[in-house]
Amino acid sequence: MSTNTPKITPQPGIMDIKLYKGGASDIVGVQDVVKLSSNENPLGASDKVKAAIAASAHQIHRYPSTDHAALRQAIADVHDLDAERIICGVGSDEVLTFLCQAYAGPGDEVIYTEHGFSMYPVLINAVGATPVVVEEQARRVDVDAMLEAANAATKIVFLTNPGNPTGTMIPMSEIERLASGLPATCILVLDGAYTEYADGYDGGARLVEHCDNVVMTRTFSKIYGLGGMRVGWGYGPQEIIDVLGRVRGPFNLSNTALAAAEAAMRDQAWVEKCRVDNARMREWMISDLAKKGVPADASSANFILARFADQDEAEGCELYLQSQGLLVRKVAGYNLPNCLRITVGDEPSCRRVAHAIGQFKAGAT
Ligand SMILES: *Cc1c(COP(=O)(O)O)cnc(C)c1O
Repeated sequence: MSTNTPKITPQPGIMDIKLYKGGASDIVGVQDVVKLSSNENPLGASDKVKAAIAASAHQIHRYPSTDHAALRQAIADVHDLDAERIICGVGSDEVLTFLCQAYAGPGDEVIYTEHGFSMYPVLINAVGATPVVVEEQARRVDVDAMLEAANAATKIVFLTNPGNPTGTMIPMSEIERLASGLPATCILVLDGAYTEYADGYDGGARLVEHCDNVVMTRTFSKIYGLGGMRVGWGYGPQEIIDVLGRVRGPFNLSNTALAAAEAAMRDQAWVEKCRVDNARMREWMISDLAKKGVPADASSANFILARFADQDEAEGCELYLQSQGLLVRKVAGYNLPNCLRITVGDEPSCRRVAHAIGQFKAGAT
């Protein structure tokens, strides 16, 4: 075998991908671990969803629906949308993948923000396009900076609202200003993974209906408690949804995933319960940590971003929490080295993590 001239080489961009690291889920030697590192719903999926999953076992020898008509109709009914303009994917990650595959390639630029979701550079590099990172201002998306960065080579702009891991949000008026100020040749993607947690926000659904270049993505992984099932969806102009449909595999979602997601969408009472619980514990956490000398921005999501004096203190606290069986997320990779992202858990978990942070601030190691 010759080693001087590599014959098998990956496509441009592939070797620039830094592997995505999920939130840790266990600690060696510790039982009863509380996982607050992946923004999962502490209440899980509803009983109706579990029943739908169990019932789907009887159809599991059949190939699933290729057009996802029943799930799209459920989404359209609940959100008052046009079912024809909805596309479903294996998590919203897959919808974001379709967007990159269909609209960006070598020589094209794709914009996202300084503290934006770490899957974006993975997806952008995977199609050989160039990631362009735009600064935020005090952990808030800066629309002027995004408009300045956009040019004729920009094919996609990713905006997470509410942001992850910041939890902050920009108002619809700012999103409208961004949508109308971008070149007409560029798609604005509103990643709405945490939309349900934000008061009075539709994720941009109405804006999508008034623009040719805006796509909204949503997920069943967060408030619906179905992170393990992998279902997400997008809503956009008909022409764009039709293009995305060409790159989607016909059987991308299983019978079980479709049944679970449809039941989840139709069980809005559960969503409402989760929303109320989350808001109550989120506000409690923010005010309790503030009293302990750990500030956080107002959050519109199911996590808070706790700020420490510096990187050393943040890392020290993360290690201390680990020793107490509590997993939170380090976010140095999101250019927030002095912060920890803490998912809002159920009440006992929130009390445990707040108590432990208080102990750490009081000198425990
Ligand atoms: C969790 C999350 C998603 C959802 O990903 P899925 O593939 O739907 O599980 C998308 N965007 C952001 C910013 C997220 O935090």
